Amino acid sequence: MAGCNHDCSSCGENCGERTEIQKLKVNKHSKVRKVIGVVSGKGGVGKSSITSMLASAARRQGLKVAILDADITGPSIPKAFGAEETPKGNAENEIYPVVTKTGIEIMSTNLLLQNDTDPVLWRGPILGGAIQQFWTDVVWGDIDVMFVDMPPGTGDVALTVYQQLPVDGIVIVTSPQQLVEMIVEKAVNMADMMNIPVLGLVENMSYFKCPDCGSIHHIFGESHVDEVAKKHSIPRICSLPIDSSLAEACDKGEVESYQSEEMDKLAAELTK
Ligand code: ADP
Repeated sequence: MAGCNHDCSSCGENCGERTEIQKLKVNKHSKVRKVIGVVSGKGGVGKSSITSMLASAARRQGLKVAILDADITGPSIPKAFGAEETPKGNAENEIYPVVTKTGIEIMSTNLLLQNDTDPVLWRGPILGGAIQQFWTDVVWGDIDVMFVDMPPGTGDVALTVYQQLPVDGIVIVTSPQQLVEMIVEKAVNMADMMNIPVLGLVENMSYFKCPDCGSIHHIFGESHVDEVAKKHSIPRICSLPIDSSLAEACDKGEVESYQSEEMDKLAAELTK
C-alpha cells in the first residue's frame, strides 16, 4: 500500500500484506471468557458510568465480572464503586484486583497512585505498557465477562487494546450532539478497520423526563441514534435519560446500587 512503513503494529489497515499481531496471553492464573470494550468519541459523555452500570448489571445477573480501566490518564472507575484499597501483590510480581461491594474485580491506575488526584503524565508507549500489564500481570482468576473502559477517542491506547487484547466487541457511548458530529463514525470506522464488531450504541443523556408532569425534553437536541445505528448496522441501541441520581450514585461510590432497566437488558444481551 502507498505509505506503508511495514510496521503493522502502528497501522489499522487490513491490507493483504498484514502480519497478524499476536494477541497477548492473559495472566497465567486467569481465564477471561468475554472481553467487551466501552468506547466513546470524546470524554464526558458517560462512558465510565455506562461501563460501571453494565458491569453491575452483569454481576446482578450472576456472572463473574471484571473491569479493566484502560482510561489510564482519566480513570474514574474506582470512584464510581467507592474502591480505595491499594491492590496487593505477590512474590511473582503479580497484582490482585480490588473487589467491589458486590464482587466485581477492578484494576485501574487510580488504585496504584498515592493520591487519586495525582495526574498520570505518561507518554504513549508507557500507557500501552500499562494496559498490557493489566492484562498479563493482574490475577483476574475466573471471569465470565470483562468490560474495558477505553480512553476516549481513537488514539494510541485504543489501538493497543484492539490489537493486543482479545476484544469480542465494543459498545459505543455517545451524547446526542456527537451522533451528528461524525465523532461516533470515527469510532465505528476504527473498530471496522480492526475487525472488531460494534455490538451496541448507547445514546446517553438522550432526554430529560420531567419528574412533575412526565413530559420528555430533548435538552441536547433530537435523537439520531436510530439513523446512525441503521447506517452502520449496529444491532442494539439504547437511550438513557439525564438522571441526577446516576451522577449522585457515581459521586458517592454507589453505582452498584443504581439500577436501570435499559442497562440490565443491554448487559443481558451482550453477555449471552
Ligand atoms: P466519560 O467516562 O465519558 O468521561 P463519565 O462517565 O465520567 O464520562 O460521566 C461524566 C459525568 O456525567 C459524571 O459526573 C457522571 O456522573 C455524569 N453522568 C453520566 N451519565 C449521566 C446521566 N445519564 N445523567 C446524569 N449525569 C450523568
